[in-house]
Amino acid sequence: MLKWLVIVAIGIVIYRYLSRDSDANKPKSEGNGVTMVQCASCGLHLPQGEAIPDEGRWYCSEAHRSTGVKTLQAR
Ligand SMILES: [Zn+2]
Repeated sequence: MLKWLVIVAIGIVIYRYLSRDSDANKPKSEGNGVTMVQCASCGLHLPQGEAIPDEGRWYCSEAHRSTGVKTLQAR
């Protein structure tokens, strides 16, 4: 009887350790999964989720999207 209690207790400890470990890994993988894009107007790097897509290019703000790539081409 005691033998089974010990086995169950060890199983719970291992289960908690593994589930806590996998939870700790989740934010890490999400952090690595963020794709950085470059603003076609000013060259600023920002996460793809915050960038504004337009005709296959990325922009950091609505103002730069309306300006387009003219700024970089003029230089
Ligand atoms: Zn910009």
